[in-house]
Amino acid sequence: MTSRLTIALAPGDGIGPEIMDATLRLFKEAKVHDHLDFRPVAMGKSVFDTGNSKGITDEAVRAIEDCGVVFKGPMETPKGGGGKSINVTLRKLFSTFANFRVFKTLPGVQTVFSKAGIRLDFSIVRENIEDTYGGVEHRLSNDMIQCKRLISAPGCDQVHRFTFQTAKRLGVTKIHCGHKANIMKMTDGLFLERFRAVGKDFPEIETGDVIVDALCMNMAIKPQQYQMLVLPNLQGDIVSDLAAGLVGGLGFAPSANIGSNIAIFEAVHGTAPDIAGKGIANPTSLILSGLMMLRHVGLLKQAAHLENALLAALETGLRTGDFGDPSLPGYRKEPATTAQFVEGIIERLGEKPKTVPAVAVPEQATPTFAHPARPSGQQVIRTFVNVVTTVVGCDIYLDTPLSPPAVAEEMQRVAQDTPFKLTLISNRGTQVWPTGSVYTECVDYYRVRFELRDGVAPGAIGQSRAVALMDKIAEKFVVCSYELLRSFDGVRGYSLAQGQ
Ligand code: NAP
Repeated sequence: MTSRLTIALAPGDGIGPEIMDATLRLFKEAKVHDHLDFRPVAMGKSVFDTGNSKGITDEAVRAIEDCGVVFKGPMETPKGGGGKSINVTLRKLFSTFANFRVFKTLPGVQTVFSKAGIRLDFSIVRENIEDTYGGVEHRLSNDMIQCKRLISAPGCDQVHRFTFQTAKRLGVTKIHCGHKANIMKMTDGLFLERFRAVGKDFPEIETGDVIVDALCMNMAIKPQQYQMLVLPNLQGDIVSDLAAGLVGGLGFAPSANIGSNIAIFEAVHGTAPDIAGKGIANPTSLILSGLMMLRHVGLLKQAAHLENALLAALETGLRTGDFGDPSLPGYRKEPATTAQFVEGIIERLGEKPKTVPAVAVPEQATPTFAHPARPSGQQVIRTFVNVVTTVVGCDIYLDTPLSPPAVAEEMQRVAQDTPFKLTLISNRGTQVWPTGSVYTECVDYYRVRFELRDGVAPGAIGQSRAVALMDKIAEKFVVCSYELLRSFDGVRGYSLAQGQ
């Protein structure tokens, strides 16, 4: 137990510094600064502008590692030049595997659902590191670009365990896993399988799953049927912005990125360059993210006081220019500036909202966050299952404009004196040889699948024979990539082609 904590602070770009100043002013009034020190760290536009393509200095990385908690404003992503989003870099660098967002109807924020008298209160956990966000992309041929989608068992376990633990803490009784396992049977299938496996450790929480397209429709029609959702990264990104729209927009959805060691709290909206410097930005998302941070470090009482004051202020009609509910008795035509908005919340400190349920105020008011010991090196996270793998073939990917029969003829010739026989050619995932439709249009990038000849027992050969086959093919063709076909404890470790 520590009595004072240091939080790494990055105000951000555009409207970032304005909304951060406003949020910290509010926190100071709630005596948060009696327990927290804020240590400024350099990242974002100012760092990109020095030619640092990562957008974060080494000192800032070290400072964040020391603090274990980051509070950040929105940051600009450089346009062009290959500069990656600092926001994504941070999440990945510090392994914050779970993005946790809460979506609540707020008084004074008019939405389709608030007008219908439907209160929303649900949360989404999005896997934050894997999936297509690995950013592993290649141009494979004249016409084909690839983005690798990576989903790991330990990565799934981390995000699912966090989800169930958070649900338990918040009293959530049912969690839904959103996915597309009907199409991506292996990647999304793994995500769903690990969800069910982790769920067994939490028998008091009911589980359900929903295909992501149906989920989007359900969210538009009846979002109140969900309490908590967990999704893979890209699907979670899209669904959580959809959810933000249901409660009034990105300006009202706080966000926490949680890892085993480090946590990042940030507003989900961007730098809003069109209103930067005007002092009119809405700080609500950053304030709510800050409340998640206060709860994360143990300042539960202060967070509850602040949340009640915010709700009480909103229900009087206090608003910035980007939102408002004209049906409220106190609706103000003239919106507040960022500073006035915060003063309006400060005036309500100690009060509770009257039109919406107040947040219970716990007694816990000192930090409980203890930074875990610094690891001695990067950790390899594994599920520690001893699986027996067996080589059964290989998929070789070719850049060629030939037709399927011509590719087949060449491949059969090359494979003649090897332990492999050609079993399949597919194009964009659809089988085009040995059978298929003449109407299947092909592009200049093929998968050719080789499997063990009859009489060659699985496990009889190792990877080197497959590499030798690829070498032979590479004498005449551009080989873009190669995937070993293996079985894991006798279970096929690769998908079939459409139509196979
Ligand atoms: P954006 O900054 O969220 O702004 C879109 C529009 O939303 C703004 O022009 C403004 O609209 C409104 N808005 C957003 N936040 C607001 C606030 N707090 N108060 C009042 N109005 C607000 O999205 P963007 O224009 O797509 O992105 C701008 C930059 O931010 C990009 O460089 C992007 O990469 C970056 N970004 C960063 C993060 C992050 O740091 N986590 C997230 C998203 C985007 P009006 O026209 O109504 O004024």
